[in-house]
Amino acid sequence: MVRIEIDRHRCEGHGLCEQAAPEIFRLDDEGEVELLVPEDIVPELRVQAEAGVRVCPVAALRVRR
Ligand code: SF4
Repeated sequence: MVRIEIDRHRCEGHGLCEQAAPEIFRLDDEGEVELLVPEDIVPELRVQAEAGVRVCPVAALRVRR
């Protein structure tokens, strides 16, 4: 199991995480990133979650193992 951490102070609302991992990340009406799933990511979504984390240009997302 991996855990996703979001640093909302860093997030600039680019939405790349949402494009790469639409089952995991979403921008809300204010342009703030939110998780669509519990932060402890189930194994089936791990690859997608890591892809979303990787594309964030401001390192606002982190995977913790
Ligand atoms: S890619 Fe990074 S900066 Fe862009 S919305 Fe996602 S967390 Fe925020």
